[in-house]
Amino acid sequence: MYPFSLKNLIDNLLTLPGIGPKTAERLAIHIASRPKLKIEEFIQSLNSLKELKVCSLCNNFSEDNPCSICQNQKRNRKIICVVAETSDLEVIEATQRFNGLYFVLGGLIDPLSGINPEKLFIKELVNRVQKDAIQELILAFDSNIQGEATINYLKNVFQNSPVKISRLARGIPMGSDIEYTDEITLSSALENRKRLE
Ligand SMILES: [Zn+2]
Repeated sequence: MYPFSLKNLIDNLLTLPGIGPKTAERLAIHIASRPKLKIEEFIQSLNSLKELKVCSLCNNFSEDNPCSICQNQKRNRKIICVVAETSDLEVIEATQRFNGLYFVLGGLIDPLSGINPEKLFIKELVNRVQKDAIQELILAFDSNIQGEATINYLKNVFQNSPVKISRLARGIPMGSDIEYTDEITLSSALENRKRLE
């Protein structure tokens, strides 16, 4: 019953994670009701995403390649914080307690959802550790089964490598996402990180 343009927008919104038919309809109607100038701003913000790059060193989204963090010579280039997603990198960076570099793995191992190690950037991480003689990897993953599975997997991958591997301290409650962990808890989990034996 909706006009084509509105129906088209609803269909596109439906492709987003966590958006069901009712929410898609509500959002589409909300967007369509805004002044034309606001709609234009929205279009521009989507359009500029086409220019967005992915850093070839850390897989972070960036305006430049390498990204500004990887280019920053003041950072400790021998220590890498490994995160699942770009959003996790953002929260750790916001604590201002980490001065090393990052690596975005592209997710966590989750066989039930079809995410096997081959789907993540593990080979690229191994190459990076060897090529740049990285001394420490801090595994900063969500505190859940997927996070544990990924830690165990990486521990095995690097068992014969000289790189030190540590994980966040247990300050983060089981089942919680890094993204929603407050800065103080996250800073302390980072500072009191535990070395994996
Ligand atoms: Zn980078």
